[in-house]
Amino acid sequence: MNLDKLIIQQKAKELGISEIKFTTPFVDVQTIQNYEIWLNKGFAAEMEYLKNNFEKRANPLNLMPEVKSVIVCALNYFPGKHQELQKGYGKISKYAQGEDYHDVFKNILKELTGWIKTIEPNFEYYISVDSSAVFEKYFAEKSGIGWQGKNGIIINPEIGSFIFLGVVFSNIEFEADSTLPDLCGTCVKCLEQCPTQAIIQPKVIDANKCISYWTIESKAAKIPVEISEKNTEWLYGCDVCQDVCPWNEKNAKITKIRSFLNPENFALELETLMQMEQEEFSRKFAKSAIKRAKLTGLKRNAEGLVKS
Ligand code: SF4
Ligand code: SF4
Repeated sequence: MNLDKLIIQQKAKELGISEIKFTTPFVDVQTIQNYEIWLNKGFAAEMEYLKNNFEKRANPLNLMPEVKSVIVCALNYFPGKHQELQKGYGKISKYAQGEDYHDVFKNILKELTGWIKTIEPNFEYYISVDSSAVFEKYFAEKSGIGWQGKNGIIINPEIGSFIFLGVVFSNIEFEADSTLPDLCGTCVKCLEQCPTQAIIQPKVIDANKCISYWTIESKAAKIPVEISEKNTEWLYGCDVCQDVCPWNEKNAKITKIRSFLNPENFALELETLMQMEQEEFSRKFAKSAIKRAKLTGLKRNAEGLVKS
């Protein structure tokens, strides 16, 4: 069997990957400059790790010197819409309801790359699933997986934006796919309906104002009042700017990846969390991305919601 894009795409579909595209491993100057401006304005808040390994992020050759192409994969994780929230509960962002996507998606990509290697033993690769200094959204847009919406998230015209992105750097060169047009048009729903006005201009999010940042990433002992008074629902993450997007309303389909489905985690009871011991937290969230917030973070979030 000869290695070409078509058989890789077929294998990717068999493995449950929703979309796979190919592009060149170069980052344009404008993207690097925009990222630097975003960092310099302090929009990354306390996420210091986003400043690390800048040379690798800006130039994939510094991460994998023999890289010739970038294979970009998208995995649908949509678990269905949130049900109406019961009193005393807080919502969990859709991406975090099931098993940790880093592990699930990496395993799928390891299977894909392992299979490619059986066909082409000289194939060398580097996998990143939101875990390395890689401009994943940039490559997703450049390869035609989707366009970057005004909410800053990649939107695929067939399935919407509830997708994880995984990138494989390849030492084998593949013909690059075409980009897609930006289909946001005149819509501004995400800007208008973000509860904290964190989307300060199309595609520019100020993490200092974003509920997702405060409930997932921030290590602060308390969430600022100006954020918590506007957050009446979200215990971990925030999906508002995706939920209101017409492309999701029209096209989001329930994922076929069963490990992303866990209806028990649509929402969690706040009082239960506030009483939770570390042992129970570690057991309950062992396989979940929710453990990133740690028990102290989740309790802080629950307390903020109880007071709101
Ligand atoms: S995740 Fe929530 S708070 Fe952050 S930009 Fe989107 S709607 Fe706004
Ligand atoms: S809500 Fe509208 S403007 Fe925002 S990402 Fe979706 S289509 Fe684009």
